[in-house]
Amino acid sequence: MVNRIARLPLAVLFLTLLLLSGADARPRVHHADKPHPQPDNPDGPFLADFPPGDPRIPSSHARDFSAGRVRFDGEKLVRLTLRPHDDAEELRDLRDGLVFYLESALALDVWGVHRTDEGGFAVDFRCSDEQLRTVADTLGVEADKRVEMEVVNPDIQEAIDRENVRLLKAHVEKVKGMAKKPGKKPPPANPSNPSAWFKEYHPYPEILSFFSNLAAEHPSLATFTPSIGKTYEGRDIAAITISAVPAEARDALKVKQIWWQGMIHAREWISGATVQFLAHKLLTAHADESDPDHTWAVKVLNESEFTIIPTVNPDGYEYTWSRDRMWRKNRRPVTGSSAYGVDLNRNYPDGWGTGGASKNPYSEAYQGPSPLSEPEVKVLTSYFLSHMKRAVLAIDFHSYSQLVLRPLGYSSYPAPHDAKLKAVGDAARDAIRATSGKKYVSEREIDLYAASGTAEDWFYSVDVGKKTTEDRGGNGRVYGFTIELRPSANEGGWGGDGFILPPESIIPVGEEIWAAMKAVVPKVLDDPLVNK
Ligand SMILES: [Zn+2]
Repeated sequence: MVNRIARLPLAVLFLTLLLLSGADARPRVHHADKPHPQPDNPDGPFLADFPPGDPRIPSSHARDFSAGRVRFDGEKLVRLTLRPHDDAEELRDLRDGLVFYLESALALDVWGVHRTDEGGFAVDFRCSDEQLRTVADTLGVEADKRVEMEVVNPDIQEAIDRENVRLLKAHVEKVKGMAKKPGKKPPPANPSNPSAWFKEYHPYPEILSFFSNLAAEHPSLATFTPSIGKTYEGRDIAAITISAVPAEARDALKVKQIWWQGMIHAREWISGATVQFLAHKLLTAHADESDPDHTWAVKVLNESEFTIIPTVNPDGYEYTWSRDRMWRKNRRPVTGSSAYGVDLNRNYPDGWGTGGASKNPYSEAYQGPSPLSEPEVKVLTSYFLSHMKRAVLAIDFHSYSQLVLRPLGYSSYPAPHDAKLKAVGDAARDAIRATSGKKYVSEREIDLYAASGTAEDWFYSVDVGKKTTEDRGGNGRVYGFTIELRPSANEGGWGGDGFILPPESIIPVGEEIWAAMKAVVPKVLDDPLVNK
């Protein structure tokens, strides 16, 4: 159902943006290799401007959680489409200003930014009727040929309800099975039965069992580390390392290293299922001589080591199971406000606070009070720096909208290795297309939207390169990518079910990303990045 609501006069929009955002509205351009200024008091202005109870703050932030699960009845996905413009820079400014206004000033939940077939941009965000009126009122509702606003999904809750019913049924079946045989434990997270495991998404403790069992089944290749550090709520963050080279020989043989991480954003469940699939496929293809990828897996594991972080944000992930399916951030209460959570993928130190994130603690893209303020990001970065000494590639998996994004996200300054980064990103895109027919877009992150303090930019940063490229005399860099998985933003007219991707997609997504990795890994092993 498409319900055309409002057209926005651009002059009013610009004026509003200017008033709301001051000088910080859009990302400032910095030389990627030079230090950049940090704001003095990042939280100050927003806490003052948007105290709890301000009608502009969405009601979802003040929900009564004691009532049980958060519901989104009547909330809709709204698409603001910016039509193509002769002045590309003005179009980008408008896009960035609009994202800032929705995500930061109003703390609305922006689901994605994507290109339209005509060459414009569309910004999708979730809101209630009341919030929609606020947006329309604030921006002014008048005819303007360049902007269009429409409801693309009238009921967010519907997909969540469908998923809840499915998960509940599965749970009941499991309990019934246990009741038939008293004393019997629940079925194990069993990697040797992949068709059962990849039929559904799983809560965090089961994911840990899956990886632990997977490593136990392949003891000569895999090492499961149950805890590389703790989250804010005290959960363990786990890692698994996979290589055919004996651990004690990897330094001497200068074995190159690859990093995959999933679930930095709690609600993006397919990103967790995908790294499970990749780890499982790597090990089973190596073990099974009849697997069509056996020779490939043997070769790659003989010359490299993979480290996989199954769930970067376990607190947030558990919260999506217990309370709020749309939760994205971690679960740390923000000091001095009633808000919870920092966007972990805006809290990495490289480019932190340079505009492609929010200073508003109520925002889904809240960057945190300082770089590395969050325990999860501290754990991940320090483990990366201590463990990855010959890093060539690091990928942060997300959903959704089918993108292969390369650095930089926080600056329009071209990455010195852009040609090589692009070639690798394009190879991933092409391999996916050849495997499943799905269209992923490969591009620089900032060309689509500004994002500062991301994992992708940090992986690629000069500083990380110095500490993680011993094989290149500390003069190398790491290929860093963000991959946004299915669905596309236009699936079913608006993005299918968005973050609620049906579990029937787990294996097809795993297979297309496995194909992408088969294209990408040999490239980065053959041609690791070196500074000129
Ligand atoms: Zn994400």
